[in-house]
Amino acid sequence: MLIAGLLFQPDSKPRGLVPGWLLVQAATILDVGTGPPPARPDLGGDDCCIFPGFIDAHVHLPQFDSIGVAGLELLDWLEKVIFPAESRWEDPAFAADMAERATDELISFGTTAFAAYGTVHSESVRQAMTQVASRHVRALFGPSLMDRNAPPNLCYLADDQIEALSRFTTLDRVEPAVTPRFAVACSPDLMTQAAQLARARGWAIQTHLAETHAELALVSSLFAGRPYTQVYEDCGLLTPRTILAHGIHLDDAQRALLHQRGCTLAHCPTANRFLHAGAMDRAATLAGGVRLALGSDVAGGPDRSMVRVARAMIETAWSLGHEAPSARDCFHLITRGNAEALGWSNCGRLAPSFEADLVVIRPTITLDKHPDPLGALLHGWDDRWIQQTVVAGVVEYDIRWRA
Ligand SMILES: [Zn+2]
Repeated sequence: MLIAGLLFQPDSKPRGLVPGWLLVQAATILDVGTGPPPARPDLGGDDCCIFPGFIDAHVHLPQFDSIGVAGLELLDWLEKVIFPAESRWEDPAFAADMAERATDELISFGTTAFAAYGTVHSESVRQAMTQVASRHVRALFGPSLMDRNAPPNLCYLADDQIEALSRFTTLDRVEPAVTPRFAVACSPDLMTQAAQLARARGWAIQTHLAETHAELALVSSLFAGRPYTQVYEDCGLLTPRTILAHGIHLDDAQRALLHQRGCTLAHCPTANRFLHAGAMDRAATLAGGVRLALGSDVAGGPDRSMVRVARAMIETAWSLGHEAPSARDCFHLITRGNAEALGWSNCGRLAPSFEADLVVIRPTITLDKHPDPLGALLHGWDDRWIQQTVVAGVVEYDIRWRA
């Protein structure tokens, strides 16, 4: 398959977009060239831009039917909206159907890879995983582990959850992830066993950290006043493959610990705004040497588009009076940056031997003489520009299907 257009190449100065073409064979980018394509392209054209597929470092597949319930604080929202929604995943057929819908939805927004949470129901998550894998997306995915401070039907025994998770295996490009939901809903025993399993298998760990003040107070009361990050450290959960969502209310000592352990913070600016959780200090996080990823956190965040999530990262920095990342930084973060943070070495770049995940867009705004074409794309982004999303060399979304 030959694809042509303005290729996103973040290292190319000054514009970050280079006219060129890509040759895709099976699931891999075989060759990349600049200038006119060697033959008539199968996808794209002079008026198109080609980006690596977008990557979402934090998303909840069981929450796609709960998008947009506004006005509640995190713990209230979990109790009133999310836990009832997640209870529906007790039915594996419902879970599989919803995972398929959610994956297709993400692909239609240009997302080709993600780190996702399921629910506590391991059999349902296993069947959901099969649906996710059927779309060839690259993913980290696992059941949300919980054994306390949630409705009884969503709390399982720690031993049972770890035993069930230990039977998960990688399916196509979907890798199991050890996913203790957050310290409020997990006993020290559950978190310690989860960390041991992750270490034994080399699996990624994903959890939440320091999203709201009420959550912080609860963690402090549950863990004898230990700092939130230290609670995870005590259980062995902080590893170079650990992704912690939010990290809004942290001090420098906790950031230093995350840096020492090589962890990643998944910044979720649309969710932080939607649930009024606060503004994550990106500058302090980076100054502390903590690796940063970016996530939609659907349904805490209402937006599925990683481009708009990236735009919200800029707006959050502005709201704090800090220097904001450039549009180039944003597009790099939601492609190669997130790939590196999630441990995917051959994903997120338009380069030979990389996995063939990409988005073909046809912008309706003129980029020719624009002083910052990537800024024009980021701030003027319109999902209707997306022509095709290619996942592992397969066209999984095509705007013509909508005609
Ligand atoms: Zn989340």
